[in-house]
Amino acid sequence: MPSTPPARAHPPSRTATLTGWGRIAPSTATLAEPSTAEAVAELLSAAAGPAIPRGLGRSYNNAAQSAGGTVVSSARLTRILSLDPQSGIVTAEAGVSLEDLMVAGLPHGWFVPVSPGTRQVTVGGAIAADVHGKNHHVAGSFASHVLSFTLVLPDGAQRTVTPDGDPALFWATAGGMGLTGFITQATVQLKRVETSRCRVDTVRTADIDETMAILAEHDTKYGYTVAWSDSTARGRGLGRSVVTSGDFAAVADLPEAERGQPFAFNPRARLGMPDLFPPGLLNRYSIHLFDEVYYRKAPRLREGEIQTIGQFFHPLDAIRNWNRVYGPGGFRQYQYVMPFGAEDAVRRSFEMVSKAHAPSFVTVLKRFGQGDPGLLSFPAAGWTLALDFPARTPGLEPLLDALDRLVVSHGGRVYLAKDSRVSQAMVEQMYPRLEEFRKLRAELDSRGVLSSDLSRRLGL
Ligand SMILES: Cc1cc2nc3c(=O)[nH]c(=O)nc-3n(C[C@H](O)[C@H](O)[C@H](O)COP(=O)(O)OP(=O)(O)OC[C@H]3O[C@@H](n4cnc5c(N)ncnc54)[C@H](O)[C@@H]3O)c2cc1C
Repeated sequence: MPSTPPARAHPPSRTATLTGWGRIAPSTATLAEPSTAEAVAELLSAAAGPAIPRGLGRSYNNAAQSAGGTVVSSARLTRILSLDPQSGIVTAEAGVSLEDLMVAGLPHGWFVPVSPGTRQVTVGGAIAADVHGKNHHVAGSFASHVLSFTLVLPDGAQRTVTPDGDPALFWATAGGMGLTGFITQATVQLKRVETSRCRVDTVRTADIDETMAILAEHDTKYGYTVAWSDSTARGRGLGRSVVTSGDFAAVADLPEAERGQPFAFNPRARLGMPDLFPPGLLNRYSIHLFDEVYYRKAPRLREGEIQTIGQFFHPLDAIRNWNRVYGPGGFRQYQYVMPFGAEDAVRRSFEMVSKAHAPSFVTVLKRFGQGDPGLLSFPAAGWTLALDFPARTPGLEPLLDALDRLVVSHGGRVYLAKDSRVSQAMVEQMYPRLEEFRKLRAELDSRGVLSSDLSRRLGL
């Protein structure tokens, strides 16, 4: 007589060594991949040790890791549950990526409301880090477009959370780095677009003052704007940049041959990086050369260029696993925000990086609009600078420590989704609402189930 296999009490799990996108600080945990909210609830309520949610692992360091505990992945929660083509309201499981949302929404004229520099992030990860994009000055960050989400609390209870119904839990979870519960699904308002292409203007600036002036001006004219800066430039060229700004194109902006397919979108990455990239390939000299060529190649002024979503929003996604270019040593991202009025400190940060000869491969300066009420959300009105350095850069630690001091002394903060080394004492100054967050967590999670390598280091 054929026997039926016993029902599986627990979702598939295995031991895995995980890192974030920067490929530093690996840690080993049980990796569980539940496919239902009930299975998530069972995992959390039965957890004997620490547990933490994980999406696509695009946070730069160890926010989605928990050494010796359980990492609860959303890899099998990947269904789009509904998408209303009229209103652009989508309900998706937490493991759906922003790329999946684009593929589903664009044919109906809907794009994600906020996109970070990669579309390979999950809906759960986008809420938990309250991610921002090039449109922060007009659209705020991701959580502002979330109508509701379902959260499995550390004791296994499930709650549907809305910004009006339970603002405390909503805004602790938005930016809360997975520490309030596991988001199983979310309902998000997408953004109406007329095409899948962007109309982009490019300006090459001579120095940091011109860069900041152009960014400020462009914030008033464009929906999306950002500056790529040459971090190796010194003296009069300090902070010279290529500023790209744009908006979604109208059908009439497209070349005639493309007007028949206004929402065409090809999301596939084209190139892959070899597993073992020669160590040291990215160093002060190669990055200097790259920056020089990139800067000189950019036009002084170009208007009305039509770019694809990939070209404008996610150029790095064109190369799969581009993080391997840093070799086995990996890399550290550092992103700060300092309030408007701290322009001298922004200038000073460029001087410090350039003087330390620390080569940042991708250096991005932008202005944020008002922050949202997220207790640990990163964005706040002001200047944000993202830098990434090969982790083995000599003198990197003292440089980043000095940047922390500069940032804190001007009322700024660093981004937890990218952090790998800031101290707890610094974070307490950077995030004045951390104590509120801790209190709420203590109420929600009396057993202390949810914790990550990041939260233990910073006492979140
Ligand atoms: C190339 C690149 C460019 C980037 N550009 C930007 C940018 O422009 N702006 C920006 O804001 N960020 C940017 N990021 C960072 C990235 O958007 C965030 O770190 C995002 O959180 C990653 O999502 P993920 O799905 O990979 O989550 P993970 O990295 O797996 O997890 C991130 C955090 O979310 C929590 N989490 C994940 N899933 C859930 C869930 N279901 N429920 C509750 N908590 C959960 C985790 O516990 C962890 O704390 C960039 C990253 C890369 C690699």
